[in-house]
Amino acid sequence: MCGMVTADNAIARKIGIMGGTFDPIHFGHLYIAECSRHRFGLEKVIFIPTGDPVHKSRKGITGPARRMEMTALAIRSNPYFDISKIEVDRPGPTYTVDTLNELHGEGTGDRIFFITGADAIMEILTWKDVDRVFRLCEFIAITRPGYSFKEIDQVLSRLTKTQRERIHFHQTGGILISSTDIRQRVLCGAPIKYLVPEKVEEYIKEYRLYLPE
Ligand code: ATP
Ligand code: MG
Repeated sequence: MCGMVTADNAIARKIGIMGGTFDPIHFGHLYIAECSRHRFGLEKVIFIPTGDPVHKSRKGITGPARRMEMTALAIRSNPYFDISKIEVDRPGPTYTVDTLNELHGEGTGDRIFFITGADAIMEILTWKDVDRVFRLCEFIAITRPGYSFKEIDQVLSRLTKTQRERIHFHQTGGILISSTDIRQRVLCGAPIKYLVPEKVEEYIKEYRLYLPE
């Protein structure tokens, strides 16, 4: 019918999703999201803070509401960045496959790119429903200069050719920041200025995050 566009013949939009604990979100996360958006022509990047992360054994993860708020503050100045409560709202442990099912359930026909540090790809075989995950999304695996492909090759060799082709490696300059490092710095009174957005720094101070009770 004239003028009717179906998911089949519409040009699929490319959407990035950036999952993480974001405890707290830092410039490393924001930088890889922005580099991926630019390199792969993503329409937007949706930040999805995890609810109860299954792959993190660390005790005392900051509550989801606080992590959501910090993430919202951090992305505010980038019109291409968005945030979703999809994982924090889902009860029980967070599995990526459930998130992807939900995103696809919205029936948009979008091409979804899951942005992650290349190191996380190493764990991919332990993910719930990995075959389905690969059908529902492609991966952008961020590497830094000097990254060794030796270990990851072992993982890649256990994937099918189609699955391997759905992992796009992308090298960025790399910012050596981790949330673990930031939490430790706060604990010992070291500065976190220039490692996290100013608003996030203020938030951490205001709510006395990462300090002993
Ligand atoms: P933690 O130290 O608590 O593990 P993190 O800094 O690794 O925190 P996460 O929320 O676990 O942050 O990471 C979310 C995603 O961002 C993961 O895919 C991780 O590999 C990636 N990532 C985190 N920091 C960086 C960084 N500095 N450069 C590139 N990728 C990063
Ligand atoms: Mg991590």
